[in-house]
Amino acid sequence: MDHCLFNIKGTGCLAPPPPPPSADATIQFSVGLNGVNRRDDTETVQTLLNNASARTGVPKKLLKVDGWVGPLTVGAIHEFQKAQFGSSDGRVDPNQKTIRRLNEISKLTPAKPPAVPAPPVLTPRERAFEVLPLATLWVSLASVHLNILLSSFKFNGGKIADPTAFNTVNTHFHLDREPNKVEANLQELIRLYGLILRTFSDAQTIFLDGPAVANSPFADAPMGGFQLPGTEFHRITFRPGFVNCGPNTRSAMLVHEGAHFVGGINEISHFAMEFPAPDGQPQGKGNVRNYAQLLTKEAMRNASSFAAFAIHAATGTDHRYGAADITK
Ligand SMILES: [Zn+2]
Repeated sequence: MDHCLFNIKGTGCLAPPPPPPSADATIQFSVGLNGVNRRDDTETVQTLLNNASARTGVPKKLLKVDGWVGPLTVGAIHEFQKAQFGSSDGRVDPNQKTIRRLNEISKLTPAKPPAVPAPPVLTPRERAFEVLPLATLWVSLASVHLNILLSSFKFNGGKIADPTAFNTVNTHFHLDREPNKVEANLQELIRLYGLILRTFSDAQTIFLDGPAVANSPFADAPMGGFQLPGTEFHRITFRPGFVNCGPNTRSAMLVHEGAHFVGGINEISHFAMEFPAPDGQPQGKGNVRNYAQLLTKEAMRNASSFAAFAIHAATGTDHRYGAADITK
């Protein structure tokens, strides 16, 4: 039994092969503070310092490899020596410890940059939950606005006491076009916004992911689904197109879908889009009036009006978030 590892083809035991020649970089003269600072030597040291920077993070900054010794190169030598030896003279001498250590470190594998975790890929439903607090705030403030208006309306014997607050509602629901039904219509709006809040509070059950559908790329709610618990209609689905919409747009869509959902069966649909603001566009079969022209009973069945009023009441501004610029 031959224990010689290098016995090749019966030639006897050979000496192990020599290690590969050292690839150490060398300098002929000193580089750095009070050094000779030859250009090629300086480039060698600058390259080694940059290697050290990539592998250990020290020196902190990469040098320009230009063969010139200035404060940055001397500073980098000091920084490297302090980190490695605890003291520094700012100079690299041929065959001395600094050049040796620089070479040792250059052979290490460069440190990988810290992995930046990829942002989580959220589903449409998760993107809906992101903005649920905002949508809930809007709807809550819409309810507060309507309740205050109704109280003051009753207190003043059926007269509008705060025209500004009334106009905020009127811009979207045109209550002035049914002057004898202002109180009843305010009560109905309060009831519907309250149901939207109840829907939002049950979002864990009601909000679902849905497939992309040609005529409904963002979100969909069966009209009156709220009345049908335990059925396939008792859900609001969010579609792939929803994912890339901005937060205000998504939040407006939550309110819009919420309105479809909480009205009666086939009640709250589309009569006019809120775009382009302020007049909007007629929407749906046979509708000819734009957003500003809708009859009260149409506006109160128009999902877009529910979203736009909630935003107006909550922010004090008639933003028309939704389909106009979906990145907002
Ligand atoms: Zn809709």
